[in-house]
Amino acid sequence: MIDFKSVLKDIQHTVTQIEDKGEVANYIPELQHVDKNAFGIYLNVIGSEDFEIGQSQTKFSAQSITKVLSLALAVSKNADEVWKRVDVEPSGNPFNHISLLEVENGFPRNPFINSGAIVIADILVSSLKNPKQDFLEFVRLLANDNDIHYDTKVAQSEKNTGFKNYAIANLLKSFDNLNNDVDVVLDFYFHQCSLYMSCEQLTNAFFLFANHGRCLSNKLHISASQAKRINAIMLTCGFYDEAGEFAFEVGLPGKSGVGGGIVALLPNKFIISVWSPGLNPKGNSKIGMSALELFTTKTNLSIF
Ligand code: GLN
Repeated sequence: MIDFKSVLKDIQHTVTQIEDKGEVANYIPELQHVDKNAFGIYLNVIGSEDFEIGQSQTKFSAQSITKVLSLALAVSKNADEVWKRVDVEPSGNPFNHISLLEVENGFPRNPFINSGAIVIADILVSSLKNPKQDFLEFVRLLANDNDIHYDTKVAQSEKNTGFKNYAIANLLKSFDNLNNDVDVVLDFYFHQCSLYMSCEQLTNAFFLFANHGRCLSNKLHISASQAKRINAIMLTCGFYDEAGEFAFEVGLPGKSGVGGGIVALLPNKFIISVWSPGLNPKGNSKIGMSALELFTTKTNLSIF
């Protein structure tokens, strides 16, 4: 039996000594007021107990991590439509890349780059009665936790400065791959990204991907095959132009966000969330990646 408690302790000890912790995202102005030295991990080992270290209960901006949750909800409601409007190929490009949209006639390469996530947001705006509230309730249900909220200051801050996302949404609209009003879709998307969650809450919300589509309270939200597919997209596209590096170093399906969080999982075995707000140049948590590399190396638990 692996001593997860001491593994997490060792990881914390090692990564706190790394001097270069990366840079906190500031292109969304509200995100920059975070302590670069913050660090937390929350681990759920399926069938065993949970383990945590550091600021595992501190909430932060989940940002692109939420793209996996919006995809799960869209797939649960409109599986066939989703794959007609978004592809499943790694992009090898930054999250906010635009030119591929032109080359491929408005068909985003995958649901985890911004263009793809904005199409998913459009599908949810069309299919939910009260999109923002319904999405929030879905995440609360997955995490079995009602203390999850949007950070409206962050959503507003991104709205004020999200020029590239406006460009992407307009381009999608010009290619007929956005059915709703650009402002309505982006308002949903900015709120979705602003979800304010702790490592524990993210780990809980991602439980269904490691458990064949059944969430913590055993409700089936997506089929086992849909969960398998979403894990495959996390592995190949979860880290933008660093997806190869994450597979190489860590070897797990996962998803990062510019708030400095990363969630990763091994189906049937565990779900882990790490938070450290400093990012590397590709927009992924620098210390978070190191911590997860140490975790899979020390425990020998990866899909490879
Ligand atoms: N809301 C952010 C954006 O659209 C999400 C980016 C991210 O976390 N990679 O730019």
